[in-house]
Amino acid sequence: MEYRQLGSTGLRVSRLGFGCIKFAQCKEPDVTAALHRALDLGVNFFDTARAYGTSEEMIGRALAQRRSEYVLATKSHGRSAAALTADLETSLRNLQTDYVDILFLHTVSDAETYEQVMGPGGGYEAAAKAKEQGKVAHIGVSIHRDLATMRRAIESGAFAVLMAAYSVIDQEGAGALLPLAARHGVGTVIMKPLSGGQLVSPPGPGGLPLSPDPVVTGVLRWILSNPAVDSVIPGMVSAQQVEDNVAAAERGPLAADERAELIAIVADLKKSYRYGQTCLRCGYCQPCPNGINIPAIFQAADEAREYPDNLKHMGRELYAAQERTAADCEECGRCMERCPAKLDIPRRLREAAQLFAG
Ligand code: SF4
Ligand code: SF4
Repeated sequence: MEYRQLGSTGLRVSRLGFGCIKFAQCKEPDVTAALHRALDLGVNFFDTARAYGTSEEMIGRALAQRRSEYVLATKSHGRSAAALTADLETSLRNLQTDYVDILFLHTVSDAETYEQVMGPGGGYEAAAKAKEQGKVAHIGVSIHRDLATMRRAIESGAFAVLMAAYSVIDQEGAGALLPLAARHGVGTVIMKPLSGGQLVSPPGPGGLPLSPDPVVTGVLRWILSNPAVDSVIPGMVSAQQVEDNVAAAERGPLAADERAELIAIVADLKKSYRYGQTCLRCGYCQPCPNGINIPAIFQAADEAREYPDNLKHMGRELYAAQERTAADCEECGRCMERCPAKLDIPRRLREAAQLFAG
């Protein structure tokens, strides 16, 4: 495994990190096995968030005894000092630790939010105090889409680490700012490398995911070929995925012909991954007061529309398994306020309801 200095933090992180965003949808023994397998194979950077359901608790239960072996990051959506402090205390309790290596201010993706968290009584103030108290070693920021805010955060000197989305089809344009971050000594962590699990090959025989998946392998190697990237954190949920992704990271940068081949394969998938077009399954929109599992319904619709004909039934079955369907949406709009992709969720639910009607 290759390791990098994470900006100027002094932290040494594996270039393949572990995104823990999907744990809440998984069986805990699988998660525990994946976490230990990762550590055993040299992955030493684990990223979670208060917003990731039971992810922090699962990490705490699985890895508390090995705390000295890994770099741990969590995130808070707390915009005020009080909210961030409360989040951090919960995170530390869940993670069974007395400090995190990085606390990210989560999804600071527009100027208004940036000013709120950086202003008097804002979340940054509490993060800085927690740093003085030794509960946080470094403060980071995760930002979607808004390149002006990203530039401002990098140049502010306030943040040690930037988390941004970047992939083969550059979803948000952050690739242009990664070298600037590197020049400012700001560590770079790449989230959503597989667009929330969509940038993958179609399922193989029996509807099972390919292992290893050449698209996933290629995309991870493509991202790690960029010298301005310190670490990439695909979401992983099984020891097998960990092994496949470690093997991918250890193959090193893509050669020119491999790069061309990957681009051709991705183009052949005929998908568009831009924010605002596709659900990334992040789950930030949950919970819906009407009990709708929004990412599951969007996944069902994507599968029913885009899978090969012999596999479209998977989407229909996933939709049929939902207790509350798209038709239960009352268009209150609460989910849209939390969606980093700024999707028009009620409209998309109406479209899904039509797709599956009858
Ligand atoms: S707009 Fe619909 S899906 Fe979104 S929170 Fe409200 S009821 Fe739930
Ligand atoms: S609808 Fe938006 S918030 Fe919900 S899972 Fe999809 S991208 Fe995430």
